[in-house]
Amino acid sequence: MENNSRRKFIQTSLAATAAVTVGNSFIANAIAGEPEPAAFAFKQVPLPFKYADLEPSIDALTNEIHYTKHHATYIKTINELIVSEKIPYKTEKEFFANASKISAKARNNAGGAWNHNFFWESLKAPSTSAAPTGKVADAINASFGSFEKFKTEFADAASKRFGSGWAWLVKDGGKLKIGSTPNQDNPWFDTAEIKGTPLLGLDVWEHAYYLKYQNKRPDYINAFWNVVNWDAVAKRMI
Ligand code: MN
Repeated sequence: MENNSRRKFIQTSLAATAAVTVGNSFIANAIAGEPEPAAFAFKQVPLPFKYADLEPSIDALTNEIHYTKHHATYIKTINELIVSEKIPYKTEKEFFANASKISAKARNNAGGAWNHNFFWESLKAPSTSAAPTGKVADAINASFGSFEKFKTEFADAASKRFGSGWAWLVKDGGKLKIGSTPNQDNPWFDTAEIKGTPLLGLDVWEHAYYLKYQNKRPDYINAFWNVVNWDAVAKRMI
């Protein structure tokens, strides 16, 4: 063998040996009971505004604690549970469609992970156009009579939710509906009383408003209307 081809032969052999070694280490890991990669991981969306942008309706400190502590913990916890409880679901909707089959801890943290992503993306800095337009306004008028009546019914669902939970506006077929869920449940849950595609959600856990509003949940609900991102709601109607 000439020097050049000998060198090539050695290089090729080394590459082949490396490939076999990598392959074997995978097999070795499986035999040793190394954890398999998680089926799926929830991700926290980047906050689409700065903490102070929703002042005075929702204060900066509440937003910061809510996003970096409460929400971040739901994300971290559900991703740990996906591994430790070997939860096989591969999409958020698949998770919620099987909510009754997973542990209460996994259910609450999965809901908390998704609901808050949805909540942040439902909000924006206050502006003069605090009412929906176009197809959202048309659908609200058709389903509830007027924007004012819609707000009253939504606020009612949010204020009457006893303890912790969420108020929702959903699209169910051609109609819009209002309802609420306990804990971190949402309308995708197989156990939810209200079903449909979520268009808007309001977190009525005390951690969402207590620093600024204390026991006055109705004041927080009223302020929420100043910071709703109706463009986001419109995109969800497609
Ligand atoms: Mn919350």
